[in-house]
Amino acid sequence: MRKAVVIGSGAGGATVAMELQGQYDVTVVEAGGEFAPFRVSLSRIEPLRRAGLLFDARLIRLLFRPMKIRRAEGEMVLVSGRTLGGTTTLSCANALRCDHGIAALGINLDAEFEEIYRQIPVTTGHMQRWGALTRRLYETFQAMGLNPAPLPKLMDLAACTNCGRCIIGCRTGAKWDSRRFLKQAVAAGAHLVTETRVSRIVMNGSRASGVAVRGRTGHRTIAGDLIVVAAGGFGTPVILQESGIECQPSLSVDPVLCIAAECPGANQHAEISMPFASQQDGYILSTYFDYLSFFFHPAWHYPIGNIVSLMVKLADANEGAVTRKNVSKPLIPSDRERLDKATAICVEVLARIGIDRSQTFLGVLNAGHPGCSLPLTWNEAQTMHSPKLPANVYVADATILPKSLGNPPILTIVALAKRISRLLKDR
Ligand SMILES: Cc1cc2nc3c(=O)[nH]c(=O)nc-3n(C[C@H](O)[C@H](O)[C@H](O)COP(=O)(O)OP(=O)(O)OC[C@H]3O[C@@H](n4cnc5c(N)ncnc54)[C@H](O)[C@@H]3O)c2cc1C
Ligand code: SF4
Repeated sequence: MRKAVVIGSGAGGATVAMELQGQYDVTVVEAGGEFAPFRVSLSRIEPLRRAGLLFDARLIRLLFRPMKIRRAEGEMVLVSGRTLGGTTTLSCANALRCDHGIAALGINLDAEFEEIYRQIPVTTGHMQRWGALTRRLYETFQAMGLNPAPLPKLMDLAACTNCGRCIIGCRTGAKWDSRRFLKQAVAAGAHLVTETRVSRIVMNGSRASGVAVRGRTGHRTIAGDLIVVAAGGFGTPVILQESGIECQPSLSVDPVLCIAAECPGANQHAEISMPFASQQDGYILSTYFDYLSFFFHPAWHYPIGNIVSLMVKLADANEGAVTRKNVSKPLIPSDRERLDKATAICVEVLARIGIDRSQTFLGVLNAGHPGCSLPLTWNEAQTMHSPKLPANVYVADATILPKSLGNPPILTIVALAKRISRLLKDR
């Protein structure tokens, strides 16, 4: 049987592994190890916060190993999952179909989405669990004409305890993440190689013959007839560059900024995060307890249950680049303009629930939806294959998104990975 090496086990990688195993003998190579949710009690974090010991978001790895944080040149903090299941293990469980930009290239993903909705549990049934503050905020959004809508969630609602800890790992297994696809791939015979980082694609003439890796046992090569790169929006461009394939400086990340205030009894942290969203032109608004800001931003020094927070998630311009050494992600003036406008709306929402405008504060500017560094174009609608890549190398993760979604991308990445897998199976 032909051998396929899949790099990365997140949304894209796990999907391809599940789809290809059987027709190919698949090996998934993952830089991270087994995923474990954040177990430290939040009351034990409290003294560290108070003592100012949590001064740099990159320290998160000491508390919670699966979460990797790096700093872009400038102010933005970049979040990704380095673990089996990739960044899907850190998701807020939002399940949106966001393929308008892809459809505009002539790629119809209807069949893939139909399959996804049969395979992944998606629900909006969490509404009846919303707390008083969430309901009030929802009504305020409605009254302001912001058209909020409950967000569909990737979860088995019956198993969900409404704990609000989705982004630091689900302890009940209620939240879907891509480890469920990996499990199916492994049950069908796929191999998993963890804690092993791919440094580059190994070439034999014009074709790829495997990947060079570094793991616990040192350096080696894993051979493959087909290589699928799905190391995420920060990992894939680096592997390609190290293999002599240049990406484009068109990185987008969907920056997130929270606008918060003290609000005794808010208890937003103990409820499903991002219960609803308001879709606006170039950004979305939601409610969101931001653990990152709570841990690392000095303004968020209030007790965990006494903070109300709204989120702006921006569809940023495709400007920025990832290299082995750093990530550059400038916000251009039009990004700033929309961010300022959205921030002002959030301050107004908070004012309408009785919070003094002058008492609001911001969170850490962060982002966790990297992609678009090798964007699909019209010319690739049939092949899903960039001419920059060797014939037997494909990219199947957020890197190929044509432009920023400004919205949760997991389902769209899974759909793209399914389409690529189908083409590979038909080859
Ligand atoms: C806090 C947070 C919340 C989010 N919430 C949502 C949400 O609710 N809904 C939603 O749709 N999206 C959400 N997202 C975004 C979503 O999780 C990601 O966009 C998606 O998982 C990206 O899929 P991917 O396949 O491109 O990469 P990833 O899922 O990031 O997978 C890439 C994998 O490759 C591995 N890797 C990297 N480099 C190498 C290497 N050199 N060698 C081997 N392996 C490597 C990584 O360890 C990782 O496991 C969230 C993101 C964050 C940070
Ligand atoms: S709210 Fe808690 S139990 Fe429910 S899916 Fe999220 S982490 Fe899991």
